[in-house]
Amino acid sequence: MTPLIDKHIHENEFRLRILLNDYCNMECHNCLNDFQKREYNSISPFIVEKIIKRYVLFCATINVNPIVSFSGGEPGIHPNFIEIVTNARKYKNLKVQINTNGAIDGYTWDKSNLDIHYHVGPGMLNQINKGQTAILVIMENWTVEKIIQILTPFYLGGMKIKTFVDFYASDVFQEVYYPILLKKINEVIPVSGRHTGIQINRGSGCINCKKRCVTLKALWMFPDNTCSPCPQRSKFRGAIAENTFWNAYNFHTF
Ligand code: SF4
Repeated sequence: MTPLIDKHIHENEFRLRILLNDYCNMECHNCLNDFQKREYNSISPFIVEKIIKRYVLFCATINVNPIVSFSGGEPGIHPNFIEIVTNARKYKNLKVQINTNGAIDGYTWDKSNLDIHYHVGPGMLNQINKGQTAILVIMENWTVEKIIQILTPFYLGGMKIKTFVDFYASDVFQEVYYPILLKKINEVIPVSGRHTGIQINRGSGCINCKKRCVTLKALWMFPDNTCSPCPQRSKFRGAIAENTFWNAYNFHTF
């Protein structure tokens, strides 16, 4: 049986995570991106185009299926969002994932063979989009009943359900109560692909790191046109070369 919290689930992937912007049109209490600073940067579509091309080639070299995810801030309000996603979709073997608060035109994009994760919760721009994923960041002071009440319309509407734990929740909540909550929720609503805290995908770059890890094996691109294998470490500016991908890949492996 798949464990409810599977820290190995993405172990064999190497993703490209692009944060299109670091601003949002909402002020949600249960934000998925609140470990990052809010500013007013938007990544250059020219840089995104170049890096995706190099990423797809790199994945062919290491024999891994390429997956790019666009998030933010809220990616749907990036001024070049349509152009960026349309360009990414030109690569037939590239899985394109979008993490949004619902500010995108779901009616159009849901039909485009994209993997869309809609953040849901109180006060969000919630959309019920059959076949896509509803993501709920669970806060420490929420009850099982409240969580089930939030998730029920999305589950009944045919969405997959995934949860994360609040980045700022206490250790005891993250490690002890969150797994118990998930088990109870799962008795009513099937919850999938859930993980939290320190991943098992640590590599040579992670030695001695005690941070709450929020990344899979990935290269991250940030809205200020910098990049890093870890969103909680130093960011690098400069031309993206093949070496950039090797450095990030080696950071996440031993
Ligand atoms: S260095 Fe970064 S990627 Fe590695 S475990 Fe720490 S937070 Fe995670």
